[in-house]
Amino acid sequence: MGLSIFDLFKIGIGPSSSHTMGPMVAANRFINELKEAGQLPSTESLRVDLYGSLALTGKGHCTDTAVLLGLQGEQPDRVDPDHVPAIIEHIIKHQRLKLSDLHTIDFNFDNDLVYHDAIVLPDHPNGIKFTALDRNKKHLSTETYFSVGGGFVVSKEELTTSTSRQSKPIPYPFDNAQELLEQGKKHQLTISEIVLENEHQLTGSQTISEDMLNIWSVMKQSIDRGCQQTGVLPGRLQVERRASRIFNSLKQSPPVDLLATLDWVNMFALAVNEENAAGGRIVTAPTNGAAGVIPAVLAYYDRFIKDSNDQGIVTFLSTAAAIGMLYKKNASISAAEVGCQGEIGVACSMAAGALCSVLGGNNEQIENAAEIGMEHNLGLTCDPVDGLVQVPCIERNTMGAVKAINAARLALYGTGLHQVSLDEVIKTMHQTGLDMQDKYKETALAGLAVNVVIC
Ligand code: SF4
Repeated sequence: MGLSIFDLFKIGIGPSSSHTMGPMVAANRFINELKEAGQLPSTESLRVDLYGSLALTGKGHCTDTAVLLGLQGEQPDRVDPDHVPAIIEHIIKHQRLKLSDLHTIDFNFDNDLVYHDAIVLPDHPNGIKFTALDRNKKHLSTETYFSVGGGFVVSKEELTTSTSRQSKPIPYPFDNAQELLEQGKKHQLTISEIVLENEHQLTGSQTISEDMLNIWSVMKQSIDRGCQQTGVLPGRLQVERRASRIFNSLKQSPPVDLLATLDWVNMFALAVNEENAAGGRIVTAPTNGAAGVIPAVLAYYDRFIKDSNDQGIVTFLSTAAAIGMLYKKNASISAAEVGCQGEIGVACSMAAGALCSVLGGNNEQIENAAEIGMEHNLGLTCDPVDGLVQVPCIERNTMGAVKAINAARLALYGTGLHQVSLDEVIKTMHQTGLDMQDKYKETALAGLAVNVVIC
């Protein structure tokens, strides 16, 4: 173990954690390594090679622009989404890049960024290689990184070895759900308390709760912004933004029926994912494509559950993080590895367990809710139409959020005893993902991506 809550919830920009945020982080890291090695001043040109899923859906997922931003020193949590179009336009027009905002080189957007659609690197489907050359076209440095989901980036070496933070001792280590439940029983702690204690030890931070409330505040801002925006989303699909229309309707009219609360939940999820598709500011939860599920369920708690409060929000997010850690450790949160099960499925499972916790569920009921949340997402493929994180992605977040609420409610009526354990469902999700044909794993080569006609 050794994952932080804030590894699962990262502030960033849309539309994709693995294809936008990851490549931006990788580009930034390569430039920093050049800087540290004193090679930045000698760099005269750069070549970027994208492999596998990054090449196949990179254009629709804005991998190209993310790489340019990262090379210029921008970071996902700091870059102003409103400034991105102007920065990219300037680079392409002048064919010049200012590496880490320090050293300017020529960069031909059409020739120096190469898409290898037919090549998948053996280590991982999301590979990206950077090569720096001097004035004689001699290689100064070459590095390959892998964007392994949720904005996580690792080098080839790190893919197979553990990082230093993973060896830091924590008070309540757990590698799977069974161990997590045992820690809770042995020390009489809730899942949230276990994760918060571990986080304190791992990071030494005294402001964990405040930082988590800040995460919630960024989620809320993405809902608020999504409720204000109208028009169509970027890309050929001309997808109409729906959140603002639903919001205005919900604000003005009395509830249509008893299920009107679900209209709010749908609207919360649409608002976040429309913002994500437009390249706006969002929080990975645990990915960008699935960034609407957890905020929608948390907004449901905030708006509709009596006596909801800040402590509940901290409990919700820390419980969700504990569940996300189990998937990150024992399966994957990368759609290029396991399909949409790893995005919407994981977000649904995290939200289900988290909601169960703030509605009074005990650890066993939380584990049950998280299990239900994934069990009914098993086999979910990733087939984004035109390679954009829009169809089916945006609407799929509404389904994930509603399913999570239902899973939490089902678990709360139970005793915590159930047939399929969370560990078994995580293992099943992983195996199903490995068995899934590659064309259903974020390639836009199958499913809706080939059957929907784009005019
Ligand atoms: S289909 Fe699912 S996994 Fe694929 S891009 Fe959309 S949200 Fe992400």
